[in-house]
Amino acid sequence: MDANMDVYFQRATALDAHDPLAGFRERFLIADEQLLYLDGNSLGRMPIASREKLHALIDEQWGERLIRSWGEDWYHGPERIGEKIGALIGAQPGEVIVGDSTTVNLYKCILAALSLRPDRKAILSDVLNFPTDLYAIQGVMQVLGADYKLRLLASEDEISVSMEAYAEALHEDLALVTFSTPTFKSGYLHPIETMTRMAHDVGALVLWDFSHAVGAVPLDATGWDLDFAVGCCYKYLNGGPGAPAFLYVREKHRFGSLSQPWGWWGHTAPFSFEIEYEPAMSMRRFLVGTPPVLSMMAIEPAVEIVLEAGMELIREKALALGEFFLEMFDHMLAPLGFRLGSPRDPQRRGSHISIRHAEGYRIYQALVRQQNMIPDFREPDNIRLGFAPLYTSFGDIVEAVRRLQRVLENGQYLAYGLGRADVT
Ligand SMILES: *Cc1c(COP(=O)(O)O)cnc(C)c1O
Repeated sequence: MDANMDVYFQRATALDAHDPLAGFRERFLIADEQLLYLDGNSLGRMPIASREKLHALIDEQWGERLIRSWGEDWYHGPERIGEKIGALIGAQPGEVIVGDSTTVNLYKCILAALSLRPDRKAILSDVLNFPTDLYAIQGVMQVLGADYKLRLLASEDEISVSMEAYAEALHEDLALVTFSTPTFKSGYLHPIETMTRMAHDVGALVLWDFSHAVGAVPLDATGWDLDFAVGCCYKYLNGGPGAPAFLYVREKHRFGSLSQPWGWWGHTAPFSFEIEYEPAMSMRRFLVGTPPVLSMMAIEPAVEIVLEAGMELIREKALALGEFFLEMFDHMLAPLGFRLGSPRDPQRRGSHISIRHAEGYRIYQALVRQQNMIPDFREPDNIRLGFAPLYTSFGDIVEAVRRLQRVLENGQYLAYGLGRADVT
């Protein structure tokens, strides 16, 4: 091993020895110690407590108690788990509910926000937003009619959007301003509080998609005066594949005449089976139909781990992991043809870093198939490295750089083609 690498390994060992979160790794199932899993930003590792919870759920609650479990535990799951997520994002009690996918929750919030600003017909977002968010906006517009307009802020560096451009785009015709942060490709963390205040100054409502933030970045829904937010539970929250998402609505918006999809679970008394729809005046209003109980319950122990670790320590470690990686990146990966696809400024970055390379897709395949390393790939040339602080060590960072080097130096990537897999 070259001497440089040796020094990095020594530093990593010292950093890991002083890491207050190091012990959390053993709370997760680690089936292969050699696997370098850097995709926790896409599907978090499985908490051992979630596996135990699911076993009990299947054998006892579903198997033995059957429908009695609805009254004994399941019925209030959406708001109980919502409260715990609410504590992570700085919400007030009763402002968060769990159910449906992120996309469906986006749809609900967009519709609700537009209905609260009926005289305004413009929506503002950016080109860095996750496609499903943009599809949901366009889907709502298709239903509401052609006088709605979606405006997208451009990105000059494909990493961030400029605040000058944002300021210029803010007009009194905006009903809604909505962004995903950190962005899924570059990991750009928008200045949430400032952008929210600026949107409010022109009378627009804000909807933040925190799919890549929740469990990775400290959030303050109340302090920042957010209106609507959604987020994914299977990324840094480790809630399991297809876990339902959360939805946050500021209390002051929940009452009155807002529109959103109606269903019996959002009724004020679902088991009265009334003909007329009457919305619940709690977050249950945003439920539509029966929640996916098996997936929903797996989230709870996973969120408890994040709460126990605390967002401050999680963020501190994420920043330290990122800075350590970038130092190695500059010395060892940039010379191999990689360029940075994420912000340099740690305050403007989430917990993942994208590195770009002309041979990105082939390098990604070689990493997965020959180096037992799982990052993910985002078109056209981004290899995305997720540093989930609860189970990623500083040693993992050095190991990742070493495996990337090997793939390049041995030309291992040359063995692979350019045809894309179904899921990357
Ligand atoms: C992961 C992610 C989603 C996922 O949406 P689903 O409806 O759960 O498939 C949505 N938005 C953003 C920004 C994401 O990162």
